[in-house]
Amino acid sequence: MTATIPYGRQDISDADIQAVVEVLRSDYLTQGPAVPAFEKSIADYCNTQYALAVNSATSALHIACLALGVGPGDSVWTSPITFVASANCALYCGARIDFVDIDPRSYNLSVERLAEKLLQAEQAGLLPKVVIPVHLCGQPCDMAGIHALAQRYGFKIIEDASHAIGGQYRGHPIGNCNYSDITVFSFHPVKIITTGEGGMALTNDAQLAKRMQLLRSHGITREANEMTQASDGPWYYQQIELGFNYRMTDLQAALGISQMHRLDEFIARRHALAERYDNKLAAFPIVTPWQHPDSYSGRHLYVIRLKTDLITKSHREVFEALRAADIGVNVHYIPVYRQPYYENLGFKPGHCPEAEHYYSEAISLPMYPALTEAQQDRVIAALQKAMAI
Ligand SMILES: *Cc1c(COP(=O)(O)O)cnc(C)c1O
Repeated sequence: MTATIPYGRQDISDADIQAVVEVLRSDYLTQGPAVPAFEKSIADYCNTQYALAVNSATSALHIACLALGVGPGDSVWTSPITFVASANCALYCGARIDFVDIDPRSYNLSVERLAEKLLQAEQAGLLPKVVIPVHLCGQPCDMAGIHALAQRYGFKIIEDASHAIGGQYRGHPIGNCNYSDITVFSFHPVKIITTGEGGMALTNDAQLAKRMQLLRSHGITREANEMTQASDGPWYYQQIELGFNYRMTDLQAALGISQMHRLDEFIARRHALAERYDNKLAAFPIVTPWQHPDSYSGRHLYVIRLKTDLITKSHREVFEALRAADIGVNVHYIPVYRQPYYENLGFKPGHCPEAEHYYSEAISLPMYPALTEAQQDRVIAALQKAMAI
């Protein structure tokens, strides 16, 4: 019996464990020094002014939308090829959601489709308030193109960089918000670095940072200059907004700080594995991940597309054969609007044809720093067998 090779998994060192144990022995399990230290390490790494740690990327997306004023009557647009959280955040705010079809090569939100859809929306008076590009697999979207459209049509941008910490766009770190209002990272264990559960919202805008800070902790302030009346005494605080408890703990932040020390190492290893897959799969009847020259991907996922017209097996048969061979492949993602909840909102099959075509062919192969070359060879052999080539 061989153990299943998962599509992704965390990499925890003795130093990571030690860092968490130190917090357990300290005075603060939450709201201590580790959270601000983790925020500083990410802000410094990304060269961004403000970084706010929260308990998940989902929470970060929610407070990012709220900070940008998304509410009933507004529209938010995102990619259909993403995790549901990128779209749900708009619905939490009572806004409408819509989807922009993907680019056939990068599988990211297509700037051409976005430009077309904006033109139509402008005529109908239904322009989006926020667009959420998702850096699928860690590869950055065409941010310069999206930013130029934002200038012209007046929408805000939240980058869903849940897959992309450690990557770069045009030589600069993803997360610097050079082309966006807010960038969000996820630290779920399958992502690039982990805090167990956790997320971060980054921005260079002091007002947005302030609002997100309030929203992550009940809408409560202890700053005298934000209060509506004089303080009753040293114990005093005021709730000035309806916020949430979206805080990260110090246990999580300590793990995050420790993981940050190995971020570049993780990304380099992911690139080495991707290159090895690229070479060994070059003759297979599949499409390997295309990389835009502007991008240095975080390489969170390695997605292949089957050329189903060149093989006798179906997408599902190949997938099932890989799972039967203990290869923990996955599909990222089911187009969000094909989920029953979204179909109940009125979305119909065919809304984004390129995304649906992609979905019918995509398989995520195992990709994580501790994947060995021997394990990778097992994946490749199993794929060859599964495709009957
Ligand atoms: C994982 C993920 C999220 C949600 O992250 P959590 O930290 O689990 O809330 C959002 N968007 C994308 C693209 C993701 O992959």
